[in-house]
Amino acid sequence: FVHQLADESVGMDQLLVSPLRLEPAPSLPLPLELYGPQRANSAGLDLTVDSMRAPLLAALGQASAPHVAENSAQDVAAAMTRSLAAYPAWRATPVATRAAVLRRAADMMEARMPALCALLVKEARKTWGDCVSEVREAVDFLRYYANEAERIMQPVAMPGPTGETNELRLTPRGPWVCISPWNFPLAIFTGQVAAALATGNTVLAKPAEQTPAIALEAVALLHEAGVPKDALQCLHGPGETVGAALVAHPRVAGVVFTGSTQVAKIIQRALADKDGPIVPLIAETGGINAMLVDSTALPEQVTDAVVQSAFRSAGQRCSALRLLCVHEGIADGVIEMIQGAARELVTGDPALLSTDVGPVIDDEAFDGLQQQLQRLHGEARALLPPSPVTPGSHLIAPQAFEMNSIADVRREIFGPVLHIVRWRGDPQAVIDEVNALGYGLTLGIQTRIDSRADALATQAHIGNVYVNRNMIGAVVGVQPFGGEGLSGTGPKAGGPHYLYRFCAEQTLTINT
Ligand code: GLU
Repeated sequence: FVHQLADESVGMDQLLVSPLRLEPAPSLPLPLELYGPQRANSAGLDLTVDSMRAPLLAALGQASAPHVAENSAQDVAAAMTRSLAAYPAWRATPVATRAAVLRRAADMMEARMPALCALLVKEARKTWGDCVSEVREAVDFLRYYANEAERIMQPVAMPGPTGETNELRLTPRGPWVCISPWNFPLAIFTGQVAAALATGNTVLAKPAEQTPAIALEAVALLHEAGVPKDALQCLHGPGETVGAALVAHPRVAGVVFTGSTQVAKIIQRALADKDGPIVPLIAETGGINAMLVDSTALPEQVTDAVVQSAFRSAGQRCSALRLLCVHEGIADGVIEMIQGAARELVTGDPALLSTDVGPVIDDEAFDGLQQQLQRLHGEARALLPPSPVTPGSHLIAPQAFEMNSIADVRREIFGPVLHIVRWRGDPQAVIDEVNALGYGLTLGIQTRIDSRADALATQAHIGNVYVNRNMIGAVVGVQPFGGEGLSGTGPKAGGPHYLYRFCAEQTLTINT
């Protein structure tokens, strides 16, 4: 064991391996009514699949995801005219009133949780567990940004010479375009929209074309809670047409986008090329997210974290684990445990409570994944049985492949597909290679050496680092979420700096 550690460049001073902590660390109280990691919110509402079994299944019978008509470029222009007309009144609405509207929407969302989950199962084909987490996250975004807007949108007195008062204040910017993905069609949609509205902007939202119904439901709910109709409008259609027309409009004040790196760059280019002001872009994109496992890690903990991070939500999370880098000294045992655990997962119909891995979103995703899997079968060692192809089901059972090197993992595969690489020597060299991939969204570290975890996290150019646990499911107000490099522009959603980017700043100097 000592030789192995010496091989990983662990100095003798670091050989005090931290004991397994069985006592939970003391945790800070969660801000206000957020759900947080402990599942109940501070009002004691425990909304989980187990506690809501009957209402969830009853709601499924009633849920329907209607087809939604596609909007045209003329619709975009008309919506922008209405948005600009609605802006002065919403901007002038006191922040406390805007926050109260968002809190009302949060309460309504919480009360309608079964119906919203059922619609998510129907339209986005997510598992019940994922749907409940998603609605809770949307509720958290509404409350968190309501609180944050009230906190930051107060004028701040600045120092100045005698005879002069100086004040710094945040102001809204105007109509924001919010472009959201199908993988969190309620949570990310609601988060983007709530951030823009809380800070006094108006919104033109374009949800992913795969999931329009849940977005329409959220918009109807926000209108019912008190957001003026024209302050929040929803436009439907593909990114190439409706998204492009929105982004190209000269009066857009800002764009917030979650999706692929490639599309983020297209948006950035379009914003730079058009006439008019310099428009801020907030982009949260993908990642080739790695987990580094050293020889002191606990194999059971690693296995649980890997299976959750790589295969939950059918791997359709930006944060999902794509690349497991495991020390060669424990690799065989860890791989065997992952194989065993992955085989236990039930891949199937998301409407069944027993399903662990639901389908991927659509034909295009399924066909693309099949091609990637074919390529991987040709160039890497398959560690799990090939997924049976059932026409029309879009189901892909968890897959894992052993690769020769990190550099062989070239692109993000958005599905339940894990790459595994063995390493030896210096773990810092592994982090260097991960940094060299250029993405920077999530990183897992599994080690019992505390000083190593801290040093590796510091070395990584990565937004969210998780030590000795899974690396998905960032909680609003607890793990602010977002990356750097090819993974996005920052700031972090659900964090204390997010709303600043939706605002302009003004100083007011008065000679008294
Ligand atoms: N915030 C989510 C998580 O931490 C991922 C969001 C995404 O996939 O865009 O798992």
